[in-house]
Amino acid sequence: MLNTLVSRIWTVALDTLYPLKCLGCGSLGSNICDACSFALTRLSKPTCDRCAQPEVGGICSWCRRRQPKFDRIIAPYLYVESSPIHQAIKNLKFGNLRVLAPQLAALLAQYLAKRSEKFDLIVPVPTHPRRLRSRGFNQAELLASELSQIIDFPMDSRLLIRAINSPSQLRAPSRDERWENVQGDFQSVVSAEGLRILLVDDLVTTGATMSACAAALKDAGASSVVGLAVARTP
Ligand SMILES: [Zn+2]
Ligand SMILES: [Zn+2]
Repeated sequence: MLNTLVSRIWTVALDTLYPLKCLGCGSLGSNICDACSFALTRLSKPTCDRCAQPEVGGICSWCRRRQPKFDRIIAPYLYVESSPIHQAIKNLKFGNLRVLAPQLAALLAQYLAKRSEKFDLIVPVPTHPRRLRSRGFNQAELLASELSQIIDFPMDSRLLIRAINSPSQLRAPSRDERWENVQGDFQSVVSAEGLRILLVDDLVTTGATMSACAAALKDAGASSVVGLAVARTP
């Protein structure tokens, strides 16, 4: 209760000190203005039916070889260098700009509204407690929590934990190494029996993290896991 109040006051203070400015064109009023939001590059077909790898129809060779544990990955946008979505995800993750989370979650909600995804529970991709301590928040959980409020669906951020903190995905040189690095990092601490899970993260690069999370969720009984990210790398 007190935490919520303090965080509200803090948000208002930040908004006054730093009025919202569009990351695309600099106009005041929002983080991504309507015009820039409309112009964002959408992740459009063809994409791999499983991992959403762009420009691949059916199932990509990667998914045929790796057999990811998620049912599929969906994302509204392509992660285009220097686009407002790129800036927003970078600023949310590394620049501590938490005010971006509600707007990115609203974009996710709009995207979901146009689809017929069936799910029971929203689960954010967890971060390791050590990383959480140094960063102060988990951007995936912020997004998932905002999304859960907008679409009025339950979220559980305690079902899945990150037990092992493998090196950053961005530093692993090859896709295979990234994949190997992260497998086994996650654990479901309670049963997910029969649940259809919507697994939320900010960005999907290889799908390795999503697959490792999905493996843990399915071990705990989840009946399906669909990964939802704001953007997918090309
Ligand atoms: Zn703009
Ligand atoms: Zn694929």
